[in-house]
Formats: sequence, structure tokens, C-alpha cells
Amino acid sequence: MSRTSIESVKRIVVKVGTSSLILPNGKINLRAIDQIAFTLTSLNNQGYEVILVSSGAIGAGLNLLGLNKRPSSIAKQQAAAAIGQSELIKIYNQRFQHYHQISAQVLLTRDVVDYPESRANVINTLYELVSMKVIPIVNENDSVAVDELDHLTKFGDNDQLSAIVASLSDADLLIMLSDIDGFFSDNPQTNPDAVLYNRITEINQSLENSADGAGSRFGTGGMSSKLKAAEHVFHRDSQMVLANGKNPSIIFDILEGKKIGTLFASDTHSSKED
Ligand code: GLU
Repeated sequence: MSRTSIESVKRIVVKVGTSSLILPNGKINLRAIDQIAFTLTSLNNQGYEVILVSSGAIGAGLNLLGLNKRPSSIAKQQAAAAIGQSELIKIYNQRFQHYHQISAQVLLTRDVVDYPESRANVINTLYELVSMKVIPIVNENDSVAVDELDHLTKFGDNDQLSAIVASLSDADLLIMLSDIDGFFSDNPQTNPDAVLYNRITEINQSLENSADGAGSRFGTGGMSSKLKAAEHVFHRDSQMVLANGKNPSIIFDILEGKKIGTLFASDTHSSKED
């Protein structure tokens, strides 16, 4: 049976990593945030339903605090996230307002999603926002998320968070924008023979090996984290595109079905190239 092709998706979750939002010198990448607001608003206007999962809280906090690297103390990182999250949302809101688009902040912890009643509330909130044509901006609630033996509240990272948000919102497509062009057979920075996969139809051991291989932590969160998110997506027979977030308007091309980045979709999904 042929499932939703990229060209006919309706509900999309877009995940943007810190590397796309914070410049190498630690300052906020205003151009990227503006492009994200422009692109997502255009899609919303065209009738797509859009949810943004955005990192960058800690990065924005470090910038405001004048720190050039993450402090090792968890409390300091959580303080930086609290400072940065409000700054980030302020900038997002400004840029979305510029395009006459309402946006909303949704902060989640893992336990909320695991607990059935809270999970239902999160789902209701996301559905309500999307039906109001508001764009939710989701992040992990970094200031309270911790990993304790009997109280797991962390998602792991925002790659996992975005796959979970795609599942909660029953999205047709997860677009993961990172600092790499897609999923490669090896680290393209160290291996000139590394090849970019256009399409991955299942996660197998050899892919896991190329993600786990020594020195393969290319792309924020690492490739194994992207594969874990993709597994989640395969599990509910949905689809994901991993692409470079250097230029967020690349999303328009992805939705036109152009071969951009790596498409993770089982054989049951049709696409222009099939
Ligand atoms: N929630 C973190 C932040 O906003 C990022 C975590 C991640 O990108 O995996 O800074």
C-alpha cells in the first residue's frame, strides 16, 4: 500500500538544532531564526500544520552570560537554559509577529509524556494550537529535566524529543535540520569516500555501525541519535528527512519532493523518485 508521499504531507514537525541557531562565535544566528519564521509562516499560510522543535536555549543563555563554553555544573547549565529559553522565545516571537504569525512556547519533560493524563493534555494542547493556526515552539524544559534512578524526566536530546513530538501530534513528516547534509556511510569530514544516502528504508546493523563507528560523532547529537529518532519514526510507519539547516528555506524544496538530504521512509511510502 502506498502511504503519504512527501508532496502530500499535511502536518510537519521541524526540528532545528543549536548549530543552526547559534553562530560559531556564540552569538545568536538572527538570519536563521528569521528564515525559520518566514518559512514556517509561509507553510502555515499554505495550509500545512507546523510544529517547531527548537534547541538553542543553553547556547542563547551562554551568549547572554558572556560564556564561551558550557559550564560543567548541571545547575549552571540549567540556569543558562532558563536565561536563554526566554531570550530565544522573545526573538522567535518577534520574527513570527513580523510575518503576522502567532507562536507559542511548549516546554516538556519526559515524565509528562510518559504519564497518560499529562500525555493527553500535551496532545490536546498541540492539537488545539495547530487548529488555531498557531505555531508551537517546543523545547525540553531544561531547567527541571534530570535523570535520576526513579525519576526519569529527560528525553535524552532534542532529536528524541522531536521524534516524540511527531508521534504525539501524529505528524506525517519530521524534518530534522542539522549541521550535516544527511546520513553518510562514514564521517565526511575525515573520509572523502563517505557517501550520502538519499533514502534509507530500514535501520539495520550496518547503518548502526556507521553511526557508532569511532569518530562518527558528526552532526549535533551524533548520528546514532538521528538513527534512534528515525527508528521511532519507522515504528509508527511515518517518515523523516535529515538535511542541512544552514539555509532553513530548504524545507520548501523538501516538501516539493526534491532529493534533499536523507529521506527515512519505508518502501510503503511513495515518492517522486519511485
Ligand atoms: N534543550 C537544549 C537547548 O535548548 C538542547 C538539547 C539538544 O539539542 O539535544 O539548549
